[in-house]
Amino acid sequence: MADDCLFCRIIAGDIPSDKVYEDETTYAFKDINPKAKVHVLIVPKVHCDNVAQLAKTDPSELAHIVEVAQHIADDKFHGSYRLIFNTGRDAGQSVFHAHAHVLTGQRLDE
Ligand code: C5P
Repeated sequence: MADDCLFCRIIAGDIPSDKVYEDETTYAFKDINPKAKVHVLIVPKVHCDNVAQLAKTDPSELAHIVEVAQHIADDKFHGSYRLIFNTGRDAGQSVFHAHAHVLTGQRLDE
């Protein structure tokens, strides 16, 4: 855990979040500024600055994040979802702890 990392502090319970899923390695909660009817952030408990670092250090956790996204979308919108990893400040990453945005709960193709 990195003390100065917002998502490490959310995972630790120091900062409140609206949790939707948790297991040994992974934590998921509703985004405070939702961009779709269902907008969940899936976060590995291990601290990595971005998804590329996660893919190198723990590829099975990256695969697990996709499984969790599928599970959420199966529950909320018959398995359809958009999965986004903003990587780098210029791509819109604002929190430097790897996380997947899962957008679902509504049609996204219009
Ligand atoms: O990809 P990016 O790093 O910009 O995503 C960070 C996300 O974390 C934002 O969508 C923001 O709304 C969300 N956030 C949150 N709860 C916080 C702080 C940020 O859901 N306490």
